[in-house]
Amino acid sequence: MGDFDDLLAANAEYAARFTGGDFDGVAHAGVAIVTCMDSRIEPLRMLGLRYGDAKIFRNPGGRVTEAALEALVLGVHLLGVERILVIPHTKCAMTQSTEQELQDRVGESAGLDASWQHFHVIDDQLATLEEDVARVRSHPLVPETVAVGGFVYDVDTGRLSQHC
Ligand SMILES: [Zn+2]
Repeated sequence: MGDFDDLLAANAEYAARFTGGDFDGVAHAGVAIVTCMDSRIEPLRMLGLRYGDAKIFRNPGGRVTEAALEALVLGVHLLGVERILVIPHTKCAMTQSTEQELQDRVGESAGLDASWQHFHVIDDQLATLEEDVARVRSHPLVPETVAVGGFVYDVDTGRLSQHC
């Protein structure tokens, strides 16, 4: 038995009912989302979106990293994105530890030195969100016609509130 057998079996059922094969890959709702990898976040469902509607970029903390900007620039120019939402969330692990603490915990789990591994920890979530939104807005390849908003998702209530 393979490590992924259950998932491949589930995929076989998915593929049997799959009807999205003609889809062109643009964001049909014109939406791009940068959010955290947290398993409590359902980016499409929480916004009333569905298959094909949005470009989604996820990482620990939902940070606007260089890789996120790369994705957003492609989304805006080649994939129909007109609105960008940056969505960190409450109770995020990246806001609850220092980089040193994460390195120590990972190092303990790995049984190896992890002090060389960087993590984008978040000291002040709202200030970081403002900086991240500003990074998108001020990017030379993101035109002013694109709406950019910073939001916080509450993992206890499911509610999204706009911060900036
Ligand atoms: Zn998180």
